[in-house]
Amino acid sequence: QQRGWFSRLRAGLAKTGTSIKHVFVSHKVDEALFEQLEDALLLADVGVPATLRILNAVRERVKKERIEDAQQVKQVVKDELIAILEPLEKELDVSAHKPLVLMVAGVNGAGKTTSIGKLTHHLQASGRSIVLAAGDTFRAAAREQLAVWGERNGVTVIAQESGDPAAVVFDAIASAQAKHIDVVIADTAGRLPTQLHLMDELKKVKRVANKALDGAPHEIILVLDGSMGQNALMQVKAFDEAVGLTGLIVTKLDGSAKGGVLAALAVDRVIPVYFIGVGEGVHDLQTFDAREFVDALLD
Ligand code: GDP
Repeated sequence: QQRGWFSRLRAGLAKTGTSIKHVFVSHKVDEALFEQLEDALLLADVGVPATLRILNAVRERVKKERIEDAQQVKQVVKDELIAILEPLEKELDVSAHKPLVLMVAGVNGAGKTTSIGKLTHHLQASGRSIVLAAGDTFRAAAREQLAVWGERNGVTVIAQESGDPAAVVFDAIASAQAKHIDVVIADTAGRLPTQLHLMDELKKVKRVANKALDGAPHEIILVLDGSMGQNALMQVKAFDEAVGLTGLIVTKLDGSAKGGVLAALAVDRVIPVYFIGVGEGVHDLQTFDAREFVDALLD
């Protein structure tokens, strides 16, 4: 049961993994293998720069170590993928501040609300107290969803009937300080990076959080749908340039995601992946481990 999430991750990545692994089956180590490997990596959302890096490493080691067995090439690919992904490993340091203020952003449907629920559960399980700020003031349903969820899980949710997400976040931080709460998680409305006025609103939430508590928000986390393909890079870039991301939660790696996008992200800009989403349940949030991830993909 403990490793159940790993089999879900493995199952999610299986389709991608199979087409990469297929390249190494009954194949000579020749130019045709390299070409097929390139195609398979690109299809897996690895992206051009990371694919070229992997292929260069493979060619170099094949030559240097006189590799003639395709299964050994697979090991080289695994080594290189792990080296690319390892910089993304980082643990969220919950003890760094009290209260620790987390701001969570993302486009609609990325899994933001689900991930906040999972994260709250995860932090509660390690004995932390939490206040949620219902910063998604656009959708009344979102506010209600969070309120119901908070009640069920014994978590205070700060919300306002109408108005300003920045004010909600300000109140939540003040409340957390007064009640000696460990963590504030501020939800924000889903938005597209192209919606400039909404990106400005996000900047305002950040500014006001800093007014409520010097240094806050300490973490600005983007929830990213892992099945977005190369589009994910544009999202990360836009949010990072607007508010400065400190971490990512990459969702849906149990389902439609091809997985390679993490490698594409890692060579583009290194923003730590604090967690990966591997299901819809409250337990389906896992810390990111490059080696585990590559094993799930290619073993
Ligand atoms: P939001 O609009 O960003 O708040 O997105 P939601 O949290 O409402 O999630 C959108 C859909 O994605 C819901 O059906 C979730 O159950 C689903 N979802 C979120 N995270 C994951 C995940 O890691 N795996 C799977 N399979 N589904 C997920």
